Amino acid sequence: MSLKDRYQASMVLSGVGDALGYKIGKWEFCKSGTIILNELAAMGGLEAVDIDKWIVSDDTVMHLATGEALIKAGKKPNLLELYKIMAKNYKLCLSDMKNRAPGQTCIDMVNKLNPDIPGGLNLKFNPKGGGCGAAMRAMCIGLRFPQPSEEKLLIEVSIESGRLSHHHPTGYLGALTAALFTAYAVNGRPPQEWGRGLLEVLPKAKSYIVKSGLDVQENLETWDYFEKKWNDYLKERGILDGQSQPKFPDAYGPVERDVFYSTLSYQGWAGSSGHDAPMIAYDALLKAGSSWVTLAHHGFFHGGDSDSTGVIAACWWGAIYGFEGVPKCNYEKLEYKSRLAKIGEELYELSRNGVAGGGGGGGSCQQA
Ligand code: MG
Repeated sequence: MSLKDRYQASMVLSGVGDALGYKIGKWEFCKSGTIILNELAAMGGLEAVDIDKWIVSDDTVMHLATGEALIKAGKKPNLLELYKIMAKNYKLCLSDMKNRAPGQTCIDMVNKLNPDIPGGLNLKFNPKGGGCGAAMRAMCIGLRFPQPSEEKLLIEVSIESGRLSHHHPTGYLGALTAALFTAYAVNGRPPQEWGRGLLEVLPKAKSYIVKSGLDVQENLETWDYFEKKWNDYLKERGILDGQSQPKFPDAYGPVERDVFYSTLSYQGWAGSSGHDAPMIAYDALLKAGSSWVTLAHHGFFHGGDSDSTGVIAACWWGAIYGFEGVPKCNYEKLEYKSRLAKIGEELYELSRNGVAGGGGGGGSCQQA
C-alpha cells in the first residue's frame, strides 16, 4: 500500500465512517450501541452494507470544505488567505446540509463569518463552543502538513480552522487533535504514542493562543478541561508514558463501551465535544489494530455522536492501513467518493513538496 493510496483511503474511509455512524440520522441519534449492532446484524453485518444507499452527514461536507480550501491555497499558502478560503467554503457548504443534520454552532457561527472585511473571521470567544464541529472536519490538515518540521503550521492552521466556528479550547483543540493524529498516522508513528504526543503539543498550542491575542484570558480560563480529560483517559488506558501497550477491560462489549464513552463526555452524549470525539475514535483505533470491523463496532456503532467519532476514527485508520480488509461494498459507491479521493491525492502531492508555509500572511486571524 503506497502512501498515496493511504492518503486516498484516509479521505474516502472518513466519509464511510461518517455515513455508517450516521445511517441517515437514525444511528447518530440512537442512545444504545446494542440496538445499533443488533440492527446491523439483522442487515447481515458490516460486510453486507452497500454504502450506495447511505449518505454522508455534515461532518463529511465540512471535511470536504476544509480539504478543498487547503488545495486551493496551494503549495506555499498565505495563512490569512487560507483561512478566508476555508471560511468561504464553510459558508458555501451550508447549502448542502439537507438531511445531513448540521450542528447548530457550526451554522450560527459560520453565518457570522465575513471573509471580505478586515477582522471578519475573528469570532468572539464562545463559552458554548466546545462541541465536536471543529474536530470532525480537521483531519485533512494533518494530511497537508504531516512533517514533524511542519508541526507549528499544523498547530496554527488546525486551531484557526476550529476557531472559525468553535472559539473555545475544548472545540478547537479537538481540531488540533484530529489533525495531529492524522499526521502521526501518515508518518507511521505507533498509535499508543499519540496521546503522549498530544500532551506535549498542548503547551505549544497554548503559546500560540497567547501570541495570537484573541480573547486570551477567556481561552486560558477554560483551557484545563480538555487537557485533564485527555490525561485521565491516557492514564486509564495505561499509555500516559507514550510507550506502554494500551490496557482494556476484559469485558468491553457494546454495553460497557456505551457506559465508558459516556463517562468521557461533557454531559453524557458521547463524542459530541471537541475532547471526546477524537478520544473515542482513538480508543476504537487502539482496540482495533488492523481490523476494520472492530474499528467500526467500537468507533462508529455506539450510543452518542457516532458519525463524528466514525469520521475521525476511519480517517486515521485509512491513513495507516489503506483499504486493506475493507469490503468494497462499504466504500465503492460512497457519496462524494471521487471528491474525497481527489482531495487525498492532491493533498498527497502538496505534502510532498517540502516544507510549506511562510507565504507572508502571518498566522493569526487577528491580522485579518
Ligand atoms: Mg454529522
